[in-house]
Amino acid sequence: MGTRRRRNRFFWNLLRMNVLPLVLATLVITAFSAVRFASSMNIETKNGLVNLCHAVGILYDTVYEGSYHIEGEGEELRLLKGEHVLSDHFTIIDSIREKTGVDITIFRLDTRAVTTIRTNDGERAVGTKANQTVVNDVLRGGQPHFYSSTMVEGVRYFSYYEPLFSPERECVGMIFVGKPSAQVERLVLTSIIPIIVFGALTMLIVCFVTSRFSKKLVVAITKTELFLEAVSKGELHTEFDADVLARRDELGDMGRYLIKMQKSLQELVEEDILTGLYNRRSGENLLKQAHENYCDHGIPFCVAIGDIDHFKNVNDTYGHECGDVALSEVSALIKEHMQGHGFVARWGGEEMLLVYENMHLDAALPYLEELLEAIRVRRMKYGDTEFGITMTFGITEGNGEKIEHIVRNADERLYEGKNSGRNKIVYETAEREKRKNDEELIQSNQK
Ligand code: GH3
Ligand code: MG
Ligand code: MG
Repeated sequence: MGTRRRRNRFFWNLLRMNVLPLVLATLVITAFSAVRFASSMNIETKNGLVNLCHAVGILYDTVYEGSYHIEGEGEELRLLKGEHVLSDHFTIIDSIREKTGVDITIFRLDTRAVTTIRTNDGERAVGTKANQTVVNDVLRGGQPHFYSSTMVEGVRYFSYYEPLFSPERECVGMIFVGKPSAQVERLVLTSIIPIIVFGALTMLIVCFVTSRFSKKLVVAITKTELFLEAVSKGELHTEFDADVLARRDELGDMGRYLIKMQKSLQELVEEDILTGLYNRRSGENLLKQAHENYCDHGIPFCVAIGDIDHFKNVNDTYGHECGDVALSEVSALIKEHMQGHGFVARWGGEEMLLVYENMHLDAALPYLEELLEAIRVRRMKYGDTEFGITMTFGITEGNGEKIEHIVRNADERLYEGKNSGRNKIVYETAEREKRKNDEELIQSNQK
């Protein structure tokens, strides 16, 4: 449970580490793109209006020859272009409005003389006034001006105003071109929505991929952690996960190093340095396991204890180092012999514990006899020195009694062997009788 919680914490940390900056970056990029897009639409709209305003001016110059001027006074004040009174000619501006959706007004001073804008009751907004800001900026200032928001007859406009001058350089009116803000905003919105959707989708995909990847990573790390936990508790035979080992990245490498470390630990803790056999501690553990297998599942086993005969003489005659070499060589021979039958551990000095697994005494004895003979015929070599050694074994079949009792039984047989001439195998009397009878039976059958 604790591991799971830790794993989740690590998973969320990993996800936060990867996804958070990405989500923030996507949000910033999307917002920035949207703002940039909106502002470029503004510029685009402004340029469009400026160009259209110029086009309207050119069109008026083409259609109506002459210059702008004002005639009359008070209510009778009129804006003329050459001979033409610009108050009742709507054809040009109406057709431009129809084609472009842009409203156009020609002002006589600050009053709308010709316009496409209509009031709420559908009448042309002729005679209505420009707002004060426009009057100040354009009419009085004599400068063209772009406004990103002007209200005309309750409608908000992107608008561009250009002053109209008489030949005497007097400002006699203005041209207004304006696009309803709602139109532009709708366009901006329909263009920005795909950017936002794309950003959100990218974010979702990235989150999904990152979370899958993080999960895999966390699972691999957790398996490594569980392995380490088991090894740290002394469970040196815990298997490492094959999937993690199959990885071709640092985690896979880490797993491979851990296995090496586990092997080194096993060697250090379980092996005897001189002989390479299991040491006494692991021998005891393995024996306990064989005993449990017998008690729990009835799997038979035999315990033998072997001791090199007159080994002190070897040391005394050829030196301790030579004794070491002989001990290692005999150990290697026994280890090889035990392969597939059980295991051998260095029980102490030149004494070995042999456990035959999954067999009764009558099955184990021929193997042990084979080993006794193999040791007897083996020539030990140390420099120019060559000599032979023998061993004596006591063996007994394992049972449900205490392990100490079983081992003592084998030990007693060993001492029996030592006291009765060495270089032999000694087993229980009852077994001995049975085996003798079996051999006699075989011989008589052969005859
Ligand atoms: P037996 O067992 O046949 O009665 O005679 P033994 O000479 O082997 O008897 P004993 O058990 O008295 O002597 C065992 C000797 O084994 C004594 C000890 O120096 C030697 N020995 C034990 N461990 C080692 C080892 O690691 N290296 C060497 N070189 N000798 C060892
Ligand atoms: Mg001995
Ligand atoms: Mg001994």
